[in-house]
Amino acid sequence: MGLAGSDAGTRMDRPGLVQPVELRSLLSGTGLISSSAGPGLNRSDSGGCPNSIATRSVMREHVGVTGRLPNATALGKALRREIAALEIAASCDATDLWAASRDCSSAGLLWTKARVSPHPPDVVAWPESAEQVAALVRLAGKQRVPVVPVGGGTGTAGGAVPLRGGIVLDTKRLTRPLRIDAGRGAVDAGAGTNGKRLDELLSKERLTLGHGPPSLRTATVGGWLATRSAGLLSSRYGTVADMVLSLTAVDGSGEILRTLEGPSAGPDLCKLLLGSEGTLAIFTEVRLRIWRRPRERWLRAVRFGSLQDALAAVREVLRSGLRPHIASLHDPLDTLFAGTDPLRVPQPLKWLAEGAQAEALRLALRAPLLLNRLIDALPGSSLVVLGFEGDTEDDTAQEGEAALVICGKERGEDLGAAPAEWWLASAHRAPWRQAPLFAAGAFVETLDVATTWPRAEALYHAVRRAAEGQALVRAHFAHAAPEGCGIEFTLLGLAGGTAAEVSSVPRDEAESDLERAQEARDAVWNAALTAVADEGATISHHSGVGSSRQAFLHRELGDGMRALRALKQAFDPHGILNPGKLLS
Ligand SMILES: Cc1cc2nc3c(=O)[nH]c(=O)nc-3n(C[C@H](O)[C@H](O)[C@H](O)COP(=O)(O)OP(=O)(O)OC[C@H]3O[C@@H](n4cnc5c(N)ncnc54)[C@H](O)[C@@H]3O)c2cc1C
Repeated sequence: MGLAGSDAGTRMDRPGLVQPVELRSLLSGTGLISSSAGPGLNRSDSGGCPNSIATRSVMREHVGVTGRLPNATALGKALRREIAALEIAASCDATDLWAASRDCSSAGLLWTKARVSPHPPDVVAWPESAEQVAALVRLAGKQRVPVVPVGGGTGTAGGAVPLRGGIVLDTKRLTRPLRIDAGRGAVDAGAGTNGKRLDELLSKERLTLGHGPPSLRTATVGGWLATRSAGLLSSRYGTVADMVLSLTAVDGSGEILRTLEGPSAGPDLCKLLLGSEGTLAIFTEVRLRIWRRPRERWLRAVRFGSLQDALAAVREVLRSGLRPHIASLHDPLDTLFAGTDPLRVPQPLKWLAEGAQAEALRLALRAPLLLNRLIDALPGSSLVVLGFEGDTEDDTAQEGEAALVICGKERGEDLGAAPAEWWLASAHRAPWRQAPLFAAGAFVETLDVATTWPRAEALYHAVRRAAEGQALVRAHFAHAAPEGCGIEFTLLGLAGGTAAEVSSVPRDEAESDLERAQEARDAVWNAALTAVADEGATISHHSGVGSSRQAFLHRELGDGMRALRALKQAFDPHGILNPGKLLS
């Protein structure tokens, strides 16, 4: 499990990172290979995720488009020998170093377009147990070498990128134990367990974890814990932090920590480690709460004349005590894309969303302010999709009808179930469709933030104002709870040449193009995050801080930074766990 099934028999020979279809999809999506490269192109939901990808054969086939692959270093070769002596699989193969040098952040996709690998690790290792992880960390501690845990590599904050080289500790072989105990309502899973695999196994037993992020197919359980992930169903089931019952982790001294299930004395060690992004400890196993899978589902799309009315309706639904499993609210532009009828999206906007017409996209993105204003001037509405789960149709319908009454009070128009079903069918695919935009010379950033209900609308407008001069801005509101909600912004801006152009220019020109692209991206990113911090909102709801939001963490935590730094020193005295992320 964790590794692709077909590789299972040869795992020791090829510890590598598997899933060639995903690599093909990634490269194809960036326009770096032709779509004739193989089956599955652009179809994999998990395309674009380099760390979980790549058989050597596929990598070699495309070495010409990945750029120069990283060379094995003397340090890497020495580490590989020492790691192998611990009976842990390890590799300095250039293809493994390349695949472990990036995640799904926009920075990673820009590197891929420019065919550079600025941060390769020295070696990649695949431990199979908590004891092996502990041995690896002790080895790294003695030599003061960084250890960067990597699960599926779907993180979007640069958290899994080995900024200072060292050992990438790939968790995909940490797939034991896997024990489902329906009676107890718990599953034990290794940290490297693939999300989709876990979901399928639970589903067979008519059970569910209630966690459904679009990255489910590729992300790992350990990655969820490390980023405190939240999925589509969070309004009913909570975030991963609400699902964890106990865990096993290895700290920076190589000590194995096991937390107790149930109430804990004193501060809760388990909760303390969640969201620490590999900087305090490496998760190896976890016990998660599971539920009986509900038999029935009720879904509805409701249209509101204004964002304000839509926000009031969702807030009141949650405050009334109802617990929808889906509560997704879209701003007017997002409503056009995520909305009720795909045919209603004006064609030029479709080009913008899909990157199908590179020239049109680039032209439009040269004047983002004008573009944002033109879209504001379109007759707009805000779509809300609501869903309820239960064991009987009566139960779900009763809750659904109660929610519709609340929506009616805020002037919501019930559009029925069909548009909501259409929305749900595309909800998991949409976030993966970014690669063509990068290939067309744009960047896409997703910024997930959160605040309380009274501040939500002001936060939305503040981020739009801050970013609208530099990028097309759309947003949806998710993870609704009685006290507040998350907002997920998508920022689409101009970022250098197209992939085709970049591939045909000399190396130094490609690097200058990358620099310009990064500057454009950084400018809008910093403007948006400054607005978030000014509004007193959290800078990351579920994607982590990584390296991309680090500069803003002090704005949120203030003096709390001191306490967190002391914790870092206590858990990781040699400073080897994922350096350069979150705190440092
Ligand atoms: C298209 C797309 C959609 C997404 N949608 C969502 C969404 O709806 N909700 C959501 O929460 N996230 C979403 N994400 C982000 C991402 O999937 C999550 O952050 C996920 O939890 C990362 O898991 P991973 O296994 O891929 O971790 P990685 O990307 O490998 O690592 C992420 C961070 O966790 C650390 N880490 C990984 N494994 C461990 C471990 N065992 N112990 C300690 N630290 C570890 C890494 O060092 C890094 O800092 C999305 C990503 C993409 C590409």
